[in-house]
Amino acid sequence: MTDPLADLLSGDPRRIWQASWEIIGTRDAGLLDSLRHELSTIHRATADIELGGAISPNRDALIHALEKVQSYRAWRCWCDDYPRLLAYDPAREEDRGNVIVLRQDRSGWPVTYECECNVCNRRFSVEEGEHHSLWWRWTPERQLPGEHATTKTA
Ligand SMILES: [Zn+2]
Repeated sequence: MTDPLADLLSGDPRRIWQASWEIIGTRDAGLLDSLRHELSTIHRATADIELGGAISPNRDALIHALEKVQSYRAWRCWCDDYPRLLAYDPAREEDRGNVIVLRQDRSGWPVTYECECNVCNRRFSVEEGEHHSLWWRWTPERQLPGEHATTKTA
């Protein structure tokens, strides 16, 4: 078992980077809660460390991770985070059991996906792009009022 808190306080840029991505990927509310109590300590311990990162600064991952720790309780669902970050690979999220990939269209550009959250059934259209590395833009599909009721009677 890794210890993200120890990693974040380690002063080691590589461990901080790994812990940031572990937090971004986790759905362990207990872990996030325990980190939440240490947020000010984490901010102090990481503020002056040079985290590096050539194309997308590694500090961006840390900032995103700490924002998640701070705000996830206010989220409607874990999938609230998808539109905020370009790093959620639909295939990997499906492997984790977090979403179902309903459709994948590789015929055109950009490559697009339609995904459904396994927790709240919200659907997203996802656009895949490449700029030095692959990224994915998640956009929640608009649900019309009363759509659920219509689906039930259909
Ligand atoms: Zn969801």
